Amino acid sequence: MPSCPECDAAVSVGTDAVKGEVVACPDCGAELEVRETSPLTLALAPEAQEDWGE
Ligand SMILES: [Zn+2]
Repeated sequence: MPSCPECDAAVSVGTDAVKGEVVACPDCGAELEVRETSPLTLALAPEAQEDWGE
């Protein structure tokens, strides 16, 4: 089971996870993106906020 890069908690990701899928860490709530599926690697997802400028 991969661990959260933010808090190191175990994050359960379905075996059918696909690259690019975003899951939330159950512990700290960080959004984690599946970077690789073999081996399963998680990385903090980039902020989803759209920057439309001020
Ligand atoms: Zn976490």
